[in-house]
Amino acid sequence: MAVRPLVSAQDPVLSRKTIRVKRVDAGIRRLVKDMIETMHYAQGVGLAANQIGVPLRIAVIQLPEDEEALVLVNPEVVHREGSRELTEGCLSIPGYSGCTLRSEKVHVKAQGLDGKTFRIKAEGDLMTQALEHETDHLDGHLYVERLVSQDQMWKHDEDEAEGELEGDATEAASSSN
Ligand SMILES: [Zn+2]
Repeated sequence: MAVRPLVSAQDPVLSRKTIRVKRVDAGIRRLVKDMIETMHYAQGVGLAANQIGVPLRIAVIQLPEDEEALVLVNPEVVHREGSRELTEGCLSIPGYSGCTLRSEKVHVKAQGLDGKTFRIKAEGDLMTQALEHETDHLDGHLYVERLVSQDQMWKHDEDEAEGELEGDATEAASSSN
């Protein structure tokens, strides 16, 4: 396993739709392990493969209270409902946060590392936000495209730039993914 470097926010791999995985093989499993290790190292709650320069449709999510990462191969949002405003950050845009407009409910269909299809339904929590954030990455979108308004983005103070994963869900919602 290895921590892989994150590409910069300007890298075109972040603005292109990623390619679906045809078969979950040993190479994909290795990639996923590296993604999880990179997510832990960067203290994010989620990571999409194109954030480390790999243009494949794979994301991992691990909320602060989760013991294991959720692996999403070929995730697709199949249902969205409602809207809410949230504070959001991204490992690809370090040092900044913004106020985004996101869904209240999200249903995602994906495959696991066993290749089997599963569905996950989330409502009103950090998982809901992370599912939209990561599938957005895989579709070539960054959260700055979802801002409530263009002035709703700010730079962190030096002493609170990273490490916001501790605490309750409200604080966790401002962590990076
Ligand atoms: Zn992100």
